Amino acid sequence: MCATPTRDVEATLSQIQLLEAHGADIIRVAIDSRKDVEALKSLRQETDAVLVVDLQESYRLVEQVAPLVQKVRYNPGHLHHHQKNVPVRDKVAFLVDQCGAHNCAIRIGVNFGSLDPEKKEAGESPIESALASVREHIEFMDQLSFSQFLVSLKSSDPNAVIEINRRFHKEHPEIPVHLGVTEAGMLPLGEIKTRVAFENLIPFGVGDTIRVSLTLPFEEKYRELEIGRKILADIRDGRFRSVPRFEHSGLNIISCPSCSRVENTAFVELAQQVKEMSQFAEKYDITIAVMGCRVNGPGETDDADIGLWCAPNHVNLKRGEESLGVYPYDEILERVRQELQNLVEERFQGTTAAVPR
Ligand code: SF4
Repeated sequence: MCATPTRDVEATLSQIQLLEAHGADIIRVAIDSRKDVEALKSLRQETDAVLVVDLQESYRLVEQVAPLVQKVRYNPGHLHHHQKNVPVRDKVAFLVDQCGAHNCAIRIGVNFGSLDPEKKEAGESPIESALASVREHIEFMDQLSFSQFLVSLKSSDPNAVIEINRRFHKEHPEIPVHLGVTEAGMLPLGEIKTRVAFENLIPFGVGDTIRVSLTLPFEEKYRELEIGRKILADIRDGRFRSVPRFEHSGLNIISCPSCSRVENTAFVELAQQVKEMSQFAEKYDITIAVMGCRVNGPGETDDADIGLWCAPNHVNLKRGEESLGVYPYDEILERVRQELQNLVEERFQGTTAAVPR
């Protein structure tokens, strides 16, 4: 996936070339605005790479995008945001019409951090809500007689990725699946989470395309490909590293892989600083999520104990679903340190972690 802003054609083209040079078969770019579409037109003239566009909320842009790319990804959880009076089925029909006219495939990309609000409310768990959402959209595809689609069901929890993809594959073995652990975070844990999920799915015939999502500086995004190919080679040769379940305990830091929507490039450094600062709490079962933008940040941080999501000039801080306010980039780290210390004291009464100053 390109992490550069799509409208920066030069930077995005060099990111595409970097990923191609390291063996990417499919490269994803995000499109949110007409400026991004104009940039995509320029990119298309410069590269023959197989491109997939992530549409998120701006589903109507598919009209300009579908002629230019091989695949479009939409998130059922994001189709509710724009044009609230238009039924979701009509929006999907529009996507299908445009993609069908240009021989463009569709990925129905369900993400635990941005579930369809109705399904989230009605479901007993994120897994049930996500399955209900994907079932509804498969039904739309059937009604619209569109068969050139695949599905992805992603979570930042590898055990959830394993469970939901196994269940989905059992229900629909005929539908191709794109696999990934979203917001797997930084190395080395990000690789371990991804490996555990892939090792427990791919040997059982689940998974047709893969993505490794790590928080890395833009110029090092190729490492996602190296790690993905290594995991595939290990699986092919029977070299398994994981136990059947991801049994990690202690501090868990989730961070998004960054993409063209990152609102301030300080995000990648902030994620690394949060990781280093929080080591004093490494033995406690606490999850911290650090996200790069407003598109997925607010939803993805809901399930974390402490959540940060980055805006252009400030960082939003949350405890679970509750907002704790916004802080400038040069103040947020100290504020997170205090919040983490408070959490350790409240939750693990009588224990006081030594906070480094
Ligand atoms: S949270 Fe935002 S910046 Fe990070 S990967 Fe998701 S869309 Fe991109």
